[in-house]
Amino acid sequence: MKNIVLLTVLAILLSCGKIADLRQIPDIHYSDSHFDQFKLSFNDMSNKVLGIEYDLSIPIYYDYFDADSMKIAICVMQSFTYISYSTKHNGFYKKTVHRNEIVVNGERFDKLSFVMQDYVIKHELGHCILNRDHDDRVYRNGNYYSMMNSVLMSEGAYLQNFDAYQIELFKGAI
Ligand SMILES: [Zn+2]
Repeated sequence: MKNIVLLTVLAILLSCGKIADLRQIPDIHYSDSHFDQFKLSFNDMSNKVLGIEYDLSIPIYYDYFDADSMKIAICVMQSFTYISYSTKHNGFYKKTVHRNEIVVNGERFDKLSFVMQDYVIKHELGHCILNRDHDDRVYRNGNYYSMMNSVLMSEGAYLQNFDAYQIELFKGAI
């Protein structure tokens, strides 16, 4: 019984979004090329489902997470407002820069299968690019409604309804 409870707790905390308010211009990070294949897969799917592609220049990179962190990856939505001077209009104006990025916990991410890595990155792109929140609805049979749920479902559950989850990811954003 104790083991079952522990597994449930571990499963709940796997991925989530975070918003950062910044007082200074955010550091520039570069995408790790390992994640390019998942970006391609994301746009391939959005093309099939919506007939559109997204600008996926968003940085996705490995960074340090606390050793006991249960998170696999987070979408950090950064916005920074600064005062700039325009010679064209001869005056100061406020400019807001949005710079979202996905930070990956390598300790946990690298242990996942390819299918599950693809799922995690698509989920985070769902936050960072599609602007989606978590959706924790479940069907009567216990299946998750969306891959934007806050619980990382099992690979079996994901693959069983793989096509439906891809369609919901993009259609749920419009
Ligand atoms: Zn999430």
